[in-house]
Amino acid sequence: MGGDKNAGQKRSSSKQAEARRWLFADQLGPHYLDSPDQPVLLIESQQVFRRRRFHRRKAHLVLSALRHRAAELGDQATFQQTRTYREGLPPDTSGLSVCAPTTYAARRLIGSLDVEMLPSRGYAVDEAQFADWAERRGGRKLLMEDFYRDVRKHHRLLLEGDGEPVGGRWNYDQDNREPPPKAPTLAQARGLDAPWWPEEDEIDEQVRADLDRWERDEGIQFLGEDGPRRFAVTRDEALKALESFVTTRLHDFGPYEDAILTDDRWMAHSLLSVPLNLGLLHPVEVAQRAERAYHEGDAGLASTEGFVRQVVGWRDYVWHVYWHFGDDYRRRNHLKARRKLPKWFAELDPDGEVGAKCLSSALASVREDGWAHHIPRLMVLGNWALQQGYDPVAVTDWFHRAFVDGYDWVMVPNVVGMALHADGGAMMTKPYAAGGAYINRMSDHCGGCRYNPKKRLGPDACPFTAGYWAFLDRNREEFANNHRMSRSYAGMGRLNDLEAVLEQERHRGASAP
Ligand SMILES: Cc1cc2nc3c(=O)[nH]c(=O)nc-3n(C[C@H](O)[C@H](O)[C@H](O)COP(=O)(O)OP(=O)(O)OC[C@H]3O[C@@H](n4cnc5c(N)ncnc54)[C@H](O)[C@@H]3O)c2cc1C
Ligand code: SF4
Repeated sequence: MGGDKNAGQKRSSSKQAEARRWLFADQLGPHYLDSPDQPVLLIESQQVFRRRRFHRRKAHLVLSALRHRAAELGDQATFQQTRTYREGLPPDTSGLSVCAPTTYAARRLIGSLDVEMLPSRGYAVDEAQFADWAERRGGRKLLMEDFYRDVRKHHRLLLEGDGEPVGGRWNYDQDNREPPPKAPTLAQARGLDAPWWPEEDEIDEQVRADLDRWERDEGIQFLGEDGPRRFAVTRDEALKALESFVTTRLHDFGPYEDAILTDDRWMAHSLLSVPLNLGLLHPVEVAQRAERAYHEGDAGLASTEGFVRQVVGWRDYVWHVYWHFGDDYRRRNHLKARRKLPKWFAELDPDGEVGAKCLSSALASVREDGWAHHIPRLMVLGNWALQQGYDPVAVTDWFHRAFVDGYDWVMVPNVVGMALHADGGAMMTKPYAAGGAYINRMSDHCGGCRYNPKKRLGPDACPFTAGYWAFLDRNREEFANNHRMSRSYAGMGRLNDLEAVLEQERHRGASAP
């Protein structure tokens, strides 16, 4: 990877160091300041919660994180609690500097003000380095795997000798991604420790009281349920969560990263996306800490590599894709999916209408915690939205509002590119569509479900299995020449009841399965 190794985290000139640093709510870590005592501006704007219906847990986390940072900084920070960002700004903004914010909309706002905008921070490589890498691809597909290897080389992560990967392989996917164990939880199967949980304090109490008041008196509405805070919102908490994860749970991350257990929502996942996306942790420090855990014998190589791949591979790749494909990327709808989200889906199954166990469990996880791990997101919720042809703009908006770690930059590529294939394959070579057989293999849901993953026709036909064939049929022209889909189409050609399955699916409608 070309460019200056530390460009993303470079200290600015002394003139910039004197400027008051405006920190957005996702720029709360020390690496967003040029010196520890730099003056700071923090703005808590209510407007965003007035405009869109976010998960209550997410609103809590963002406000709690901002207020904790303001309290930590004390007199060093001017903390404004206002209706809009503009109301929180001083009349003369020329003394402010800001690290490039994480969305197109926020960068437009900064562009309209007299505020100095510095390069973005908080990612493994900066935008110029990604552009350089993309150019060197010479028009070939921007494969995450290639990018990830360059990032590993650039930061010398899990390397030995002259830059060879530790253990001789770059990718240990083959050793990871096992089906779930035959026990209800990883604690029972593997003796896995519980995740680190934060303790709420008086700031959380105040946030909860304010959100109650906003709902009661100010007409602001939230999605989902309130409950104890589950994620780190300060640097100190984030470091504790990281330390606890790498020393007690990372070892089991890789083998079970794709597995789902009904009674074990968190499995061996790190729960670090919230502190990472609040800017409290730098992804390279997280990867380096995981690497150290491997060297100290706390975690195996396959698991550590799998985790490093997520944190500095996928996460950075998604960030750069967001900027690389431009602001219109969010509106791509290659498969012409136009259906509205039904209420039971949009509102997270508040009345428990959903009988399909995998869907009801994923929606319950989001309703209760604003979180589900990668596979319920991709292979249950995303797969369902893809099969049913939900409008990608609406699905992106829903994911963004419903998940505690949802931000525009991370949601757009994950939904438009990865889950819905709405970009026509710019990001992934084939759609992540799958029938009940996949969910049956990777979860323990199907045994307790009213449907049968092997059946595609009849009252107990699995809606994912039947929906998969309907999806393939609907997009036959699109994927006919995609060699990675040829086995699926060959399989479809052998179905003697395809017409009846398609007829059944045409009548599925919007009711909860
Ligand atoms: C449809 C869909 C929507 C998603 N939305 C978000 C989102 O809004 N915010 C978000 O941070 N992640 C998102 N992800 C990626 C991933 O599912 C979450 O980062 C992860 O589940 C968070 O839990 P964790 O911190 O325990 O992650 P772990 O499973 O422990 O993984 C470690 C870290 O890797 C990073 N990571 C892994 N995959 C991705 C990815 N595809 N994109 C970005 N970061 C990744 C995250 O920072 C995560 O914390 C989405 C994935 C899909 C398929
Ligand atoms: S049978 Fe189908 S609907 Fe039921 S849990 Fe399995 S995949 Fe989901």
